Amino acid sequence: QPREKLDAVDSVCPYCGVGCALTYYVDRERGAIAFAEGRDQPGSQSRLCVKGRYGWDYAASPQRLTMPLIRIDSAYPKSALSADVRGEGKGSATGATNDRGRGGDGGNRSGGGRKDDPGGKRGGGRKPGGLVDYDEVLPYFREATWEEALDLIARRLKEIHAEGGPGAIAGFGSAKCSNEEAYLFQKLIRTGFGTNNVDHCTRLCHASSVAALFEGVGSGAVSTTYGDVANADVVIITGSNPTANHPVASSFFKQARRRGTKIIYVDPRASTVAEHADIFVQLKPGTDVAFYNSVMHEVIRLGLIDREFIAGRTSNYDELARTVADYPPERAAQITGVDADLIREVARTWGEANAGVVYWGMGISQHTTGTDNARCLIALCSITGNVGRPGTGLHPLRGQNNVQGASDAGLVPMFYPDYQGVDREATRRHFEEAWGTTLDPNRGLTVTEIIKSVLQPGGVRGMYMLGENPFLSDPNINKVRKALSALDFLVVQDIFLTETAEFADVILPATSYLEKDGTYTNTDRRVQLGRKVMDPPGQARPDWEIVQDIARGIGLDWNYESPSEVFDEMVALMPSYKNLAYDNLGLSGKLYPNDDPEHTDGTVVMFDEKFNTDDGLAHLVPAQWLPPRELPDSEFPLVLNTGRLLEHWHTGSMTRRSYALDAISPVAEVYMHPKDAADRGLAHGEMVRARSRRGAIELLVRISHREQLGNCFIPFHFREAAANLLTIDEVDPTGKIPEFKFCAVQVEAL
Ligand code: SF4
Repeated sequence: QPREKLDAVDSVCPYCGVGCALTYYVDRERGAIAFAEGRDQPGSQSRLCVKGRYGWDYAASPQRLTMPLIRIDSAYPKSALSADVRGEGKGSATGATNDRGRGGDGGNRSGGGRKDDPGGKRGGGRKPGGLVDYDEVLPYFREATWEEALDLIARRLKEIHAEGGPGAIAGFGSAKCSNEEAYLFQKLIRTGFGTNNVDHCTRLCHASSVAALFEGVGSGAVSTTYGDVANADVVIITGSNPTANHPVASSFFKQARRRGTKIIYVDPRASTVAEHADIFVQLKPGTDVAFYNSVMHEVIRLGLIDREFIAGRTSNYDELARTVADYPPERAAQITGVDADLIREVARTWGEANAGVVYWGMGISQHTTGTDNARCLIALCSITGNVGRPGTGLHPLRGQNNVQGASDAGLVPMFYPDYQGVDREATRRHFEEAWGTTLDPNRGLTVTEIIKSVLQPGGVRGMYMLGENPFLSDPNINKVRKALSALDFLVVQDIFLTETAEFADVILPATSYLEKDGTYTNTDRRVQLGRKVMDPPGQARPDWEIVQDIARGIGLDWNYESPSEVFDEMVALMPSYKNLAYDNLGLSGKLYPNDDPEHTDGTVVMFDEKFNTDDGLAHLVPAQWLPPRELPDSEFPLVLNTGRLLEHWHTGSMTRRSYALDAISPVAEVYMHPKDAADRGLAHGEMVRARSRRGAIELLVRISHREQLGNCFIPFHFREAAANLLTIDEVDPTGKIPEFKFCAVQVEAL
């Protein structure tokens, strides 16, 4: 169809936290998207990466869930799912379900099958490799009406609540949902079940960054945008591979460098960003605190600190200075493996610049020292006066498209919407009045704590899981598997039969983001409208409607008629959202805080006069370097780092069903240094086994000069070689985030 005959719908990309603005061109005759195109918006300027441009056809997959499903217990009890994945248990992630290459049978079971495509011919008649085998799992479920499924959910959750009390219930929401859905989900768990046991995947992503930021500057959001890189003399990009994970933001960084901004890139992996850096620091994994303490040591020694800023806008400088005095570059060099002169060069380059921003990713946050890592970055910016002016600031690059918004909306166990503490008496009273009920005065359990709690007597017994897939995304998934199969009742609401849905008692078919309206908040604090592009398949429904039906089922008097009505309620309870409304977000969205959304884009640079802490000062929190929890030894001599690829997204349920993305990146690989591979006699492309103390997977080896000697990298998108079988579930004591970036493994020939 020529472009003029296509229907153009403006929306946002559903993948990473950059939140690029785009337009879908829809062929209404075929009922399908023809193509997507970037559109102008300050944060993306019409750019898209491969995921935004091509990663939307998953929504038309014949594997979409189209009917509610209820487990037939007698046919297949969940206890059969509790064997270790490494063994021969049902649904093994070690390749038993990998039918890549078989092709041909079309994936024609989709919760009753798409009525308009019963043979599953769309998507090339090909079943994506490694995903849940519908033919194997669906016989253990039966189709149900919405009424029957919702009645069962309400009855069982109320029974578990009555027997075990509020602490027996927990909910995992999702950063893929809209702000309104995140808000309603946390409100349901808090007001319907009287518990704060509600969390989402921020716990696996930037929870430690948020903890450090909240403690240090009083806000969990970024202090400036990624576009502000244009005003910076120097930036530090650390623990991040933005080319793969935030590609459009990465293009802003590279563009700024061409205009004179210096890039200091600090990371254990030599990703392509290193090729665009003025200084590349390839430090040993897990040594960030030692490195940044040493940089601060040098900045102070050279007198490159901003004394006026320290005196007027920070607290606890003397203790910080005493701590970093113990990290001269020579000592830090021994810990980090970085030449002492390079540490001095970083300190000089950063300290002598007029304006600098630090952008960081999960290489900083996903450690048992993640909060300490982020504390060091906050301190480095603060003592050099690099916060509160154009071209300065703190920016954790948020992962999912709406992880910022879901966190803002209160989808975390310690905060009501807008980071208002549940353990503050006055705040709780305020929300009790607004929501018309009594609320739990205690912080709830986090994602990682909920999984542990299920395996303990008196712990969580019933769960409502909306859009999350912990079977692949959480660490040490043999333990997750045991927890999911031990639950008395599990509801999974999703668009596909995910690995986690295999454990459900009831599976509810939800709409994809293409099939509903809602707002999403990107890493810059930009609140944008996502618009409905097409109708949902079968009986799939928007998450917000389903959550409302469950709320009504357990006796709550909810009567929301639209997402915008929910948004209005959020604005009334969230000071940061003041002045925002559906009808003033416009085509580009708006940054918050925003004094006048009708006429301005919003606040780019935060903290120009004071921080959001109680005393208005930045709190400098010193940290001592601690080694990672599981060090390599003779049996497991390699350090495993896990992460993402450009073409795939998290547990792969969407991108592995997107034809182009799956075609570009179809298989799981372990990336290894050439010498490590040679020492083991491994050739590029050979099948190998990677194993840790927790499990083993089989996958291809990719020899890569980007890895350090003694280190390897495995993306976590692939069920048939699930990286999180290997990872440890040790967590950061403050942010409760797992150590996805460091555990000991061996890689060997089969
Ligand atoms: Fe989507 Fe992120 Fe790519 Fe933009 S950079 S198109 S938001 S995945």
